[in-house]
Amino acid sequence: MYDLIIIGGGPAGLTAGLYAARARLNTILLEKFAPGGQILTTDWVENYPGFPDGISGFELIDRMKNQAEKFGLNIESQEVTRLDLDGDIKTIHTNKGKLETLAIVLATGAFPQKLGVEGEGLLTGKGVSYCATCDGPFYRDQEVAVIGGGDTAVEEALFLTRFASKVHLIHRRDKLRATQLLQERAMASEKIHIIWDTVCSRITGATGVEGLDLRNVKTGETSLLPVQGAFIFIGYSPNNQLVDGLLKTDDYGFVVTDENMQTSVPGVFAGGDIRSKQLRQVSTAVGEGAAATFAAEKHIEDLKAHRETFG
Ligand code: NAP
Repeated sequence: MYDLIIIGGGPAGLTAGLYAARARLNTILLEKFAPGGQILTTDWVENYPGFPDGISGFELIDRMKNQAEKFGLNIESQEVTRLDLDGDIKTIHTNKGKLETLAIVLATGAFPQKLGVEGEGLLTGKGVSYCATCDGPFYRDQEVAVIGGGDTAVEEALFLTRFASKVHLIHRRDKLRATQLLQERAMASEKIHIIWDTVCSRITGATGVEGLDLRNVKTGETSLLPVQGAFIFIGYSPNNQLVDGLLKTDDYGFVVTDENMQTSVPGVFAGGDIRSKQLRQVSTAVGEGAAATFAAEKHIEDLKAHRETFG
């Protein structure tokens, strides 16, 4: 039986693992494929302290993984299919079998939201993308559209200017949600063209993206924007399928915890993008991963002491 099982290998999970390995807890980190998470789709991270010139998402994760493994963290590729959270001993069912543990840190993150318009599903991977780092280089000297007005949309639009001849940033309001610094950079870019107060109602094309049907929400005017790529960055939804109905969540499905990362079930802790909170960043995820393991360690100690006393 494990002391602690960490589910998810992004910044929160890897930090939870680093702290668990250093605390000498009998721990395993489970990840469906390989460690990484959302950060792997981020080209350049500029606001993680300690890297004044920035660092690539890939390198940052690689360093976190190496650091955790250096202290003995065991990372395995296993897909978790079901959780039994009743009682002191939790059971984790995976595609490779069944594991028992005294505590769980849930760090399964979030995934990009879909726009939900005609053509989106059909053309995903054929011009519709949720990852500029992955697909941007395919659009050298072509025109692309980015949908959204938050930090992700603006940051990725700026990244796409390295390749595309023009980047149309389509936002449903007349003010961007993104932080001021990113807004200033977008406004200063000659390649970025912001289309305000506008939504996309359809993505056209048979075998690849050919254009977007647009509608101005103030005037009702419709138009067709010819582009070869459509990048959608309209926020994230939690990867909460495993704990749906088992843990308390907020209205959007993000897991609610106290300030020690304790969820509504004793022995189950959560950190990173899966958590209900305001700011989803690498810097917040790592702090939560550390706090989750610290709280889990106390829980494990208490459980072991109780079992020694009462059997
Ligand atoms: P977000 O902040 O929730 O922004 C989502 C954007 O998409 C908003 O502009 C929203 O419009 C728009 N939107 C939502 N649903 C839409 C729909 N159905 N149709 C059209 N537009 C829609 O999401 P995010 O940009 O992915 O950021 C998520 C979190 O990560 C935030 O906390 C953000 O600060 C953080 N982040 C930080 C950095 C950084 O600091 N470098 C980089 C990336 C992300 P409205 O504005 O009208 O609501």
